[in-house]
Amino acid sequence: MYDLLIRGADVLQIDGETARVLPGHDIAIRDGRIAAVAPAISPGLADDLINAGGMLALPGLVNAHTHAAMGLFRGVAEDVPIDVWFNQRIWPMETNLTDEDIYWGTLLGIAEMIEAGVTCFADHYFAMDEVARAVDESGVRALLAWAVFSGPDEERQLQRTLAFAERWQGAADGRIRTCLGPHSPYTCTPAFLARVAQAARAASLGIHIHLSETAEQVAQSLAIHGKTPVALVRDAGLFAVPSLAAHVAHPTADDSAIMAAHGVAVAACPKTEMKLGVGVTPVVDLMRAGVDVGMGSDGAASNNSYDILEAARLIALLEKHSRRDATVLPVGAALSLATSGGARCLGLGGAVGALREGLQADIALLRLDSPHMQPSHDIPAALLYSACPSDADTVIVAGRVLMRGRQLLTIDKDRVLREVIARAGRLTQRRAGEQMATYPAAE
Ligand SMILES: [Zn+2]
Repeated sequence: MYDLLIRGADVLQIDGETARVLPGHDIAIRDGRIAAVAPAISPGLADDLINAGGMLALPGLVNAHTHAAMGLFRGVAEDVPIDVWFNQRIWPMETNLTDEDIYWGTLLGIAEMIEAGVTCFADHYFAMDEVARAVDESGVRALLAWAVFSGPDEERQLQRTLAFAERWQGAADGRIRTCLGPHSPYTCTPAFLARVAQAARAASLGIHIHLSETAEQVAQSLAIHGKTPVALVRDAGLFAVPSLAAHVAHPTADDSAIMAAHGVAVAACPKTEMKLGVGVTPVVDLMRAGVDVGMGSDGAASNNSYDILEAARLIALLEKHSRRDATVLPVGAALSLATSGGARCLGLGGAVGALREGLQADIALLRLDSPHMQPSHDIPAALLYSACPSDADTVIVAGRVLMRGRQLLTIDKDRVLREVIARAGRLTQRRAGEQMATYPAAE
């Protein structure tokens, strides 16, 4: 017997750079996993049926770097450079956040992600117990890191995040995993990074960090420390544990070799990187150097949306445009960045990111019957270049249906919207001298 049977879907399969579709296949789910992908599985064997005729089944999309609650700040920092973005907008405003704000802001982000077919995300923020609560209740999958900065209370911050990581590791039937979140080499001293690395090794935790977002950060690191941010973090010992680095828009050839040798995965966030005008992660160069790459949205205060197909689309377009080469990053390769590539970033390679027997049943069903998706000469290409988030019809995580017919089943969306709108005005207030940190940090 099966718990759930998805009937008659076109099932996306990605093999290397090649994407293809198995037409009219069924997906059987048992105990949260994919039990079979085959044509014409008997419906009598299943407790619940979803008729997916005319829909595309794809692996749930993976958001490899975000700050989900930052949807609370969507639109507060437009058309400003990164120093103004941090110092005059985001870091002053973030001092207003209460734990409850972060809970509702995270639910807003999760609702947006589910509605866009995203089933799994790597989050890096504050008050992470609230984020974990939102993940637990909403049914999605996440890797959670509590951001820490250098400062007089850095050891207290580290102890708090270690306690959080232990409290939630493997929670929600294994949907929640935790790691440590040193914010970046420009907000953490080398000594503190080394302390975090030692704590991560002792607790068998990975790390999630921002790295080499701008050319100025790299130049500053070279001037002060005599090495790039990537080399600095390696020398602090952080790469001795599973590491996820956000952005890495300005790696040297040595940096790429270091990351490949240490199995460091990179989350590219092209929309944020372009919007802040800081340079975009060289995804194809990193992949050719042997670095695992996934797609991230960063927070909505810079990215404005949590649309991971858009991120993959932007990277494909940017690589083709900048190289004057239409053949680079073909459809299958770009789609794999948003699925299996992201899964590897989160340490979930082989668990999610593909639709085959034995993997977690994290699945999105997309409608194919809209004018912008027809005729379907090439369904994977339509997914990458034509689909809208609102094409997602049904979303399943670990075999549990979280959205069906575009109705969210685990989140009271009206309540979330009321809560967020009621909080929005207070959160944008700024008081002189109060901010989370300073960019770039004084050494
Ligand atoms: Zn970020």
